[in-house]
Parts: sequence; structure tokens; C-alpha cells
Amino acid sequence: MAGFSVFLADEAAQLSLAAELAHHAPAGTVIFLQGDLGAGKTTLVRGFLQALGHVGAVKSPTYTLVEPYEINGQGIYHFDLYRLGEPDELEYAGGRDYFDGESICLIEWPEKAAGYLPVADLLCELAYETRNGVQGRTCKLQAGTEKGDKIIAALSN
Ligand code: ADP
Ligand code: MG
Repeated sequence: MAGFSVFLADEAAQLSLAAELAHHAPAGTVIFLQGDLGAGKTTLVRGFLQALGHVGAVKSPTYTLVEPYEINGQGIYHFDLYRLGEPDELEYAGGRDYFDGESICLIEWPEKAAGYLPVADLLCELAYETRNGVQGRTCKLQAGTEKGDKIIAALSN
């Protein structure tokens, strides 16, 4: 499966990678976003939604677990599972209903719901990194499915 790493020097770079992803992610794409607090997961989701035309705030659904969006008929669900106590709590929150193969799902802290999530098309691992005195982030993107492979191939063009 395809994958690559990229250094994102600032928030603008993070938003532009997110926009690229948004433009190449078909219906049903599932993306896992991993990384410490502040690593830029929500920023990536914001860039993704805004690139598709969302106007307005994008705040992490820390207490509600999921925030639904609909942009030009495409359902997009933003999960933040940081506060999930046990993986099966996702069931009570109706979490699985969102994985319908049509909706795009962007999932922060997927490790909190291990065993209750679909296979990720893309895994995005974000980490703090300082290069030449610039504190940015490294984003490691890895495909988990053929769909993810195609997205990565499209990104590099
Ligand atoms: P997370 O959701 O992973 O906790 P956020 O997306 O809320 O993190 O980002 C935390 C902060 O990091 C924000 O202030 C954001 O502007 C900043 N940030 C995001 N991406 C980058 C980047 N590539 N370089 C520097 N700062 C960034
Ligand atoms: Mg966040």
C-alpha cells in the first residue's frame, strides 16, 4: 500500500494538504487522524471541510463525539473520540450508523474505538517536528485500502 511523509511548516501548509485530500476523497472515504493533542488533527478536518465549501466554524466534537456536515449533498462526519471511555460506547452514541459506505468519515483518536470502526482508507499520523528552527508538523499518510491507494496516487499528481 502506498504512503508518504511530508513536513508541514505552518498551519497554511496543513490546510492546503487537507484541501488536496478533500478534492481527491470520494464518497465513503474513511480517514483516521492520529497524533498528540495539538498535533493538528482538527486543523486538517477544518481545511478539508472548507475546501469543499463549508463556511463557518469547525470545532472538535469533544463531548458530542461526532459532528455532522452536509456539503453539496455529501455527508461528512467529524469524530473526536478522545473522551470515549470504552470502545463499545461508540455503539450507544449511534456511531456505527455513520459508516454507511457513502458518508466521508474523518476520525480523531480512532484508537479509542478500536474494534468498532471500519477499516481506514487512509491513516494520517501527525507529529510535532522542528526543522531549521521552524516548529511545524510531520504528516505521515498511509493507505489502508485500494481506495486509499488511489487517493494517494492522485495527490502526488
Ligand atoms: P489537534 O486537533 O490535533 O489537537 P489542532 O488542529 O487543534 O490539534 O491544532 C493545534 C494548533 O496547532 C492550532 O493552533 C493550529 O493552528 C496549529 N497547527 C496546525 N497545523 C500546524 C502546522 N503544520 N504547523 C504549525 N502549527 C500548526
Ligand atoms: Mg482536535
